[in-house]
Amino acid sequence: MEAVNPATGERLHVYEPDDDDTVERKLDRATSTFEEWRDVPLREREQLLVNAGEVLRENKQRYAELMTREMGKPITQAIAEVEKCAWACDHYAEYAHKYLSDEHHPSPPGTEVKTVHDPLGPVLAVMPWNYPFWQVIRFAAPYLTAGNVGLLKHASNVPGCALALEEVFAEAGYPEGAFQTLLVGSSDVDGILADDRVRAATLTGSGPAGRAVAETAGKHLKKTVLELGGSDPFIVLDDADLDAALETGVQARTLNGGQSCIAAKRFIVHTDVYEEYVDRLVAAFEDLTVGDPMSEETDVGPQADPDLMAELHEQVQASVDAGATLLTGGEPLDRTGAFYPPTVLTAVPSGCPADTEETFGPVATVYEVADADEAITVANDTRFGLGASLWTADRERGQRLARDISAGCVYINEMTKSDPRVPFGGIKDAGYGRELSEMGIKEFVNKKTVWTE
Ligand code: NDP
Repeated sequence: MEAVNPATGERLHVYEPDDDDTVERKLDRATSTFEEWRDVPLREREQLLVNAGEVLRENKQRYAELMTREMGKPITQAIAEVEKCAWACDHYAEYAHKYLSDEHHPSPPGTEVKTVHDPLGPVLAVMPWNYPFWQVIRFAAPYLTAGNVGLLKHASNVPGCALALEEVFAEAGYPEGAFQTLLVGSSDVDGILADDRVRAATLTGSGPAGRAVAETAGKHLKKTVLELGGSDPFIVLDDADLDAALETGVQARTLNGGQSCIAAKRFIVHTDVYEEYVDRLVAAFEDLTVGDPMSEETDVGPQADPDLMAELHEQVQASVDAGATLLTGGEPLDRTGAFYPPTVLTAVPSGCPADTEETFGPVATVYEVADADEAITVANDTRFGLGASLWTADRERGQRLARDISAGCVYINEMTKSDPRVPFGGIKDAGYGRELSEMGIKEFVNKKTVWTE
């Protein structure tokens, strides 16, 4: 398994993948650790999570640099990611016992009926490279605290991050086996998931990967949570605060090199403000600093991988060939590394890749609409349904329109973002289930009814 710096093409490290015996040993260890871990008092599991947050904070710079080297995220954003991971640890350390407290139900006199929340066992997490720390902590913080144990199969291009995450939990004092990294490729996932010792799975990544995992999990009747990306609308209505909608829109499309499931991908702009918005969007994109991700001045680093950049470029080219107007960007930068410039497409024909597919890079597709009704129609004209952002000065109007948007979450006058306190997840091809908040921690527990006469 190779870690390659996408900013320079330099090969950073080669890791020996886990062989069958190693995987076997780790699965056994997960099972035996689970039997003890499930009985550790919740308060102690919360305290260990406090420790994990501290380990993350203490090693913030080192972990951030590791992410930046392996997948090209600008260093300031990598540091923010580690801080956010520590916040998620703090959150569940404070709230897990509240979220998992027994639920009492109406019951006949003299009878007590309640639901208790038991862990399920070893949970397999198949994770992507785009937020190498956050995606993992997002599952590990709640699920380990609920008494499960974690098996991480991280994306093959971030093996250093995968091992560093194992280190976080070891240093925090978790028992060996509570969180283990499996250095395996995607072709090994099927067999691991089918194994009886693995009780559930969560995957963040592409649709094909999600379908493969869901199929195997379905065959073996194992619970899954899938977070599969999107083509989120960013709707700017006629009464929106344009300065704010612009500043946030630029961020929402270009953060993390545009490689985020909840990035604003389709800008849907009311005709009254369309021209001004597009002009300013293009100017703002051209002002962004694209370059060395280790520099604190950099806004947009390289794409995580040259092949992924080539796919993005094909989507842009095919859309232009189909008749879309390219206003800025649209060609890989003529320099070493997988650098793609912030790109704006308008007049995008229906059915071309920029219209129907997820563009995983700094490419904004802009639509002009006559009114709010048309904005909602365009927003919903997608097979995805992860997030949406809607901009209007009238909060009630925003909340009314939010009900008509087919998505797992709608942010009014704010970009779509994940927050440990708030449920996160999608509908349609964006997947199913919810992560984070009380809903997230309850995805992988046995909600057991206990009836006592
Ligand atoms: P993948 O979905 O291929 O990778 C995500 C994870 O799934 C990795 O750990 C990968 O392992 C694993 N995986 C891939 N195929 C399978 C499979 N058949 N069975 C089990 N596990 C599998 O994403 P890519 O990195 O290839 O990116 C492709 C596209 O996916 C992006 O352009 C973007 O559109 C979308 N994506 C969405 C993300 C999100 O946040 N929702 C995150 C990343 C990508 P391995 O690395 O070993 O192949």
